[in-house]
Amino acid sequence: MKLAIDIGGTWLRYETVGEEELCGKLPSREHDLLDFIGSMIRKHPQIDAVAVSFAGQVHDGTILSAPNITVSTPEIRDTVESRFGVRLLIENDLNSAALAESLYWEAPFLCALYSGSGLGAGIVEGGELLHGFRSLAGEIGHVPYRRAPFRCGCGKSNCLELYASGSGLAKWMEYEHCAEPVDLEALRQSSDPACRRIADDYLEALLHAAATLLTLCNPSHLILGGGVIRANDWVVDELRCRIGDYALAASLAGVRIELTRLEEASLEGAKLLLDKM
Ligand SMILES: [Zn+2]
Repeated sequence: MKLAIDIGGTWLRYETVGEEELCGKLPSREHDLLDFIGSMIRKHPQIDAVAVSFAGQVHDGTILSAPNITVSTPEIRDTVESRFGVRLLIENDLNSAALAESLYWEAPFLCALYSGSGLGAGIVEGGELLHGFRSLAGEIGHVPYRRAPFRCGCGKSNCLELYASGSGLAKWMEYEHCAEPVDLEALRQSSDPACRRIADDYLEALLHAAATLLTLCNPSHLILGGGVIRANDWVVDELRCRIGDYALAASLAGVRIELTRLEEASLEGAKLLLDKM
């Protein structure tokens, strides 16, 4: 039996594959990753492999940084393998999501661009994930853009994520004293021009992110997802209409820009990682 886990800032989701099929969703703040894996292995000693999709930067079995998750044991792969004798593979959650999207869309050249609390991307090139030297490829949210009057979780103050993410929207709303709910549609429809500008800036930054991925990676599919976009699917049409002003024209030929159709792409991706073990 194998265990797939997706851990983000809010939820830890899991699913087992094999003789018993279990699944669940727990608040991630109340469950340490290592403790959770340990308790699952003790309850189900037939678990012999674990794959984790992780909302943070990971490299070679080690968690490098996790802006929204408390991590007790960064060396998670070696610890699980030595303590429980169980193999573990850990991957950035956007990379896992991109793997799942690539399979769903049958697209070996695909970028997934998700705008939720953060802004991230996963890049599939010839059917394989693009990792980079220390598995940090695809960090589109921290590509330099415009100077903002506050800092990103990474420490810089000019990241795309400061404009095109849920956390960015919240920061701008606090800065501009916007009274609207933290919702892109509410901002767009607001009678307050400062609120409407935050929504316009969100779209502008998202277009920059999308065009950067299309121009740099030349995928056949750009798949949009994440909480902000899923709650505002009109963003997808807006991007399709305006992307021509942002991306290299040649790199747009034949490209499909679509909203994700997967409910839990990064958990699906973790299950795909199990197949690689
Ligand atoms: Zn940043």
